[in-house]
Amino acid sequence: MATDIPEYHAVGIGAGPANLSVAALFDKVGPGRELALFESQSAPGWHDTMLHAGVRMQTGWLKDLVSLLDPTHHLSFLNYLVTTGRVFGLIGAGFDTIPRIEFTQYLEWAAQQLPRISYGVRIDQVSFEDGRFVSHSGGRAVARSEHLLVATGTRPQMPNWFAALPADRAIIADGLSQRLADLPADLDAPILVVGSGQTSAECVNVLLGRGHTDIRWVGRRSWFAPLEDSPSANDLYRPAYQEYFLGLPRQARRDLVGSQILTSDGISPGTLSGLYQSNYESRLRTGRFPVTILPARDVVEARMVGDEIELGCDTPGGRDAQRGVFVVLAAGRTTAPLPFDAELAREVDVSDAGEPIIEGDYSLRWKGADRNKIFLLNRGRYVQGLVDSNLSILPIRSAMIINSMAQRSVYTFRDDYVSTRWS
Ligand SMILES: Cc1cc2nc3c(=O)[nH]c(=O)nc-3n(C[C@H](O)[C@H](O)[C@H](O)COP(=O)(O)OP(=O)(O)OC[C@H]3O[C@@H](n4cnc5c(N)ncnc54)[C@H](O)[C@@H]3O)c2cc1C
Repeated sequence: MATDIPEYHAVGIGAGPANLSVAALFDKVGPGRELALFESQSAPGWHDTMLHAGVRMQTGWLKDLVSLLDPTHHLSFLNYLVTTGRVFGLIGAGFDTIPRIEFTQYLEWAAQQLPRISYGVRIDQVSFEDGRFVSHSGGRAVARSEHLLVATGTRPQMPNWFAALPADRAIIADGLSQRLADLPADLDAPILVVGSGQTSAECVNVLLGRGHTDIRWVGRRSWFAPLEDSPSANDLYRPAYQEYFLGLPRQARRDLVGSQILTSDGISPGTLSGLYQSNYESRLRTGRFPVTILPARDVVEARMVGDEIELGCDTPGGRDAQRGVFVVLAAGRTTAPLPFDAELAREVDVSDAGEPIIEGDYSLRWKGADRNKIFLLNRGRYVQGLVDSNLSILPIRSAMIINSMAQRSVYTFRDDYVSTRWS
């Protein structure tokens, strides 16, 4: 066993909001217990390639790294606003929802104050040796730890048909801002945007902003549905509901996630109305709509027809084809495989469906779980509910993880004012 590998109480893979929140709250575990984070990006950042002008958060700023658990914490969003001198400016500007770039800058500010975050280190393999997890990067062991937190986020989903397209004619939404120069110089050329969620709408807006006059927005949903953000929808994003949800049978949880999806994955109403209003006003000015709205089309194949891309779509009325010279793909996101070596992977319990089993405290069921916990963050929407996929109760999740790791109640939280009865 190599002895020069740094050892920590816990290692977190990824330094996105999920692990930053745990790190911010970790001090209270007590002296001698250190958490180190390893982040593959070279510097702090949060979906930086998608920070287009005008994009807004889908959650309110109270849903920061710490406030819903400990509003007195120095890494609260409010403390960020005050100590960086922007609180009056932000309030005065009267945003309904804050710019995403503001939240990104908040996360950077918080990350800079947290110790033991190593940037530019991609953890590509984790093994379990002599009672400790060993995290490796590029063939080198970088840390040993008693516990492990995997918070590697999501990456764009790539349907099979996308691979059939020439690389210079198709991009994923995450790469749009870097590849604007590759878009056709002819602003009247037809551009296809594929996707039904917020990211696809933001891509349409980017193209509109550049003056493109023939944007064909293709989506699988039967309409480009708005985010459901009513008080009754928000009931689903609170600890009281999570407690109820955790007690349900597996299939019931899956069904509920399906029926609640628009509370998480819909398009912000403000984005939709801005887009529809621009489209209408352009028609008044130019005599044509620059955006053609093409819902209820499930793209199942793609091919080149002469110089054009043709997307074959299943629709409720049969097959449909949509053509353009360029495709922007925003077809949702998925998780990366767990970075475990073969031996550790064999010790992980899986469900009948072949999925790792996540417990109510976000820990993974595996052979050594009694002593060494592996927490999976943002991978348990069918265990903890859709709330696991976003920022809504981030500090509450962190508290549950910290309590489980410490095997005592380091943090308590309350959710008493509940008027809804689910059972
Ligand atoms: C454009 C966009 C906007 C969003 N807006 C909102 C919003 O307004 N409100 C909301 O609630 N949710 C929003 N979400 C959902 C959002 O992703 C989550 O709420 C949040 O980012 C999840 O945090 P995370 O830390 O789990 O994942 P991420 O934020 O994805 O962070 C994961 C981190 O892990 C790093 N990483 C990955 N693999 C490795 C590895 N092997 N080794 C080291 N590091 C690694 C990544 O570089 C990344 O920094 C948005 C998502 C997107 C894509």
